[in-house]
Amino acid sequence: TLPEKAATHNLFLKMIPELSNESVLMKDPQRVQDILKSLLDAGPNTLQVISDFDMTLTRFQYNGKRCPTCHNILDNSKAISEECRQKLNDLLQTYYPIEINTSLSVEEKLPLMVEWWTKAHDLLVEQNIKKEELAVAVRESDAMLREGYELFFDRLNQHAIPLLIFSAGIGDILEEVIRQANVFHPNVKVISNYMDFDEFGILRAFKGELIHVYNKREGALLNTGHFEELRSRPNVLLMGDSLGDLNMADGVQDMKHILKIGFLNDKIEESKQSYLDSYDIVLVKDESLEIPNAVLQLLT
Ligand code: C5P
Ligand code: MG
Repeated sequence: TLPEKAATHNLFLKMIPELSNESVLMKDPQRVQDILKSLLDAGPNTLQVISDFDMTLTRFQYNGKRCPTCHNILDNSKAISEECRQKLNDLLQTYYPIEINTSLSVEEKLPLMVEWWTKAHDLLVEQNIKKEELAVAVRESDAMLREGYELFFDRLNQHAIPLLIFSAGIGDILEEVIRQANVFHPNVKVISNYMDFDEFGILRAFKGELIHVYNKREGALLNTGHFEELRSRPNVLLMGDSLGDLNMADGVQDMKHILKIGFLNDKIEESKQSYLDSYDIVLVKDESLEIPNAVLQLLT
């Protein structure tokens, strides 16, 4: 009945008042409420969090200036030559617009993404990058975790809720960013592209299967061991900024409930509808972790 609906809606807003923030869009608020209620009833011991890294846990922009991805941290560092920087930037200008173009299908984008990552990694491998240079590159970069990151990482650790950071970036750089921010807690596990260094500590290759933005499903299925360990946690909070991030939970065993939070950072008008159709909660140009934190506060 109608009065009942109004009552539940009020209850919902009381549960998480931040959901009425201007940056928050939901195609189906009732559905969000139902998922939240299921997660709440099941309790924090049944929850795991799976998050993308670049432009999800890190900021997209700060004071009008774009913030770097893991790759960009190296692109802009002293660890590579000026010539290489130019080439990597040219690649970014060519392929990033393809990555976020909503009028191309994933099938059309796939080979181009493989091309981008492969070319970039080949260029990086030519640079004889030393392992010790990574920490310096991160320290001197403009990389920033989103506002509220301490609360986010610390709360998950406090409640022993596993956090999987699933990134098509560079694992070694990503780890350094969260280590320097003092939030690389024991509950954090990273799946990403890791560098392979030789006995002299020089970058020679990248390890394992390449992870790019649109093959996270394959990446998840290669890591069944991780998800097997978390079998007792069938409920998921998923966070991403790309439609490719929706596949990060494809390896979860016997999944029961999933709440998907999507950051819409770029090409807002063109992408809004597809984000609303696939993410339960869409955060438009929201540079903070306020909403994930509010959800976690309710659930823990
Ligand atoms: O952590 P996440 O999965 O978001 O990392 C992938 C991001 O890294 C992509 O969104 C892509 O734009 C960016 N990227 C980059 N330079 C490359 C390859 C990817 O900035 N050479
Ligand atoms: Mg991302």
